[in-house]
Amino acid sequence: MMPAFTPKQDSFREEIRELLREDAVRAEIAQSRRMPYGQESGLLAVHRRLGKLGWLAINWPERYGGADATIVEKAILTEEMIRHGVPDNVHSLGIDIVGNAIHLFGTQEQKERYLPGLARGETTANVLFSEPDIGSDLASLTTRAEPDGDGWRLYGRKIYNMKAQHSDFALCAARTSTGPVNFAGITLFLIPLQSMGVVIEPVWNLSEERFDLVTLDGIRVGRENVLGELDDGWQVLGKVLPLERTGLDHSAKAERTLAALREHAPPGCEQRLVQLETRVRAARLLAWRCVANLHDGRPDEVHSATAKWYTSETAKEVSVAAVELLGPRALLDARDPEAIAEGVFDAALREAPGLTLAQGSSEIMLFFVATSKLGLPS
Ligand SMILES: Cc1cc2nc3c(=O)[nH]c(=O)nc-3n(C[C@H](O)[C@H](O)[C@H](O)COP(=O)(O)OP(=O)(O)OC[C@H]3O[C@@H](n4cnc5c(N)ncnc54)[C@H](O)[C@@H]3O)c2cc1C
Repeated sequence: MMPAFTPKQDSFREEIRELLREDAVRAEIAQSRRMPYGQESGLLAVHRRLGKLGWLAINWPERYGGADATIVEKAILTEEMIRHGVPDNVHSLGIDIVGNAIHLFGTQEQKERYLPGLARGETTANVLFSEPDIGSDLASLTTRAEPDGDGWRLYGRKIYNMKAQHSDFALCAARTSTGPVNFAGITLFLIPLQSMGVVIEPVWNLSEERFDLVTLDGIRVGRENVLGELDDGWQVLGKVLPLERTGLDHSAKAERTLAALREHAPPGCEQRLVQLETRVRAARLLAWRCVANLHDGRPDEVHSATAKWYTSETAKEVSVAAVELLGPRALLDARDPEAIAEGVFDAALREAPGLTLAQGSSEIMLFFVATSKLGLPS
């Protein structure tokens, strides 16, 4: 069952829709999708506009730039932004992962220093977890924090992160001690990105947005850069990752692609469209149930993993179906004047494989559900 939205939440959704349908906003979004190859947008005017209204991180306290609302209002905002095609990575990395981690685990000083800029859409942050040989098995990460006086110097390479060139700072996982248990000894640091000791290089890939290879070559950090407890970053990750894994972003992407497909599909596709519609609705239900669990203070990691798997696979299925039903013109990108629906199908198809990998791959999600819920041997 979909959670019942209050009249206030429904009218909030309407207000967001109105803003996102304004000509200037639509033009900016379209423009950001037509940037020359190799370029991509960071924060847009629309982010600053939403930030000024206190909506970008609406569930954070007012003193940190939010509006003291709940995670439901935040989810409504995310859903509408994605439905209207606002590029979401800069927002989800900065607010949903890094900002939420600071909100939950930061010191008073860290909250005051970092959250208002993120919430106003004036600064942004990215996530430096994955390494060239470490993705799914994150606990084996090798980036090291070497003691240096009363602080540390970081050495290592982080890959497959996004938006480093646009970010002011990053949440970075590094090893502060070693021992028999891999996940012990990991510490999370908030590090300035555009600074000495950090080298950012692009890694091109199939989708519109590049990955970055970030080399940490002795950047110095102090105790004030540590988020949460020293050596106990795994705890923070365990609490923050389910917040990110509601699947709502993926279900909204699937909805957006399907809405465009319905508009452009040739006659004779009705049965396939109904099958896709059923799947997309199921995906949305799963995602909203995750949000409802979080709202009720009952985060459920198994449900999050199920939702993440199903919603991302659904987004992929819809994007593949769109190309099958529409033919080669669906593969023209937003820069091509002949593109259908401003290139939405091409962008969705190229983004799809990444959706099923990022935030925990489909296989890892299924493995987690099988071992934790169904009790199958690992
Ligand atoms: C679009 C996108 C954005 C990303 N953004 C970020 C970011 O901002 N910051 C960041 O740090 N990282 C980011 N990543 C990296 C992402 O977290 C990793 O890609 C992911 O953790 C998988 O790691 P990997 O690529 O090394 O693949 P691997 O772990 O090498 O896995 C390769 C394949 O093997 C499968 N596999 C691995 N282990 C098992 C197992 N035990 N059982 C069964 N199958 C298994 C996986 O499912 C996958 O299909 C991003 C990735 C993508 C695609």
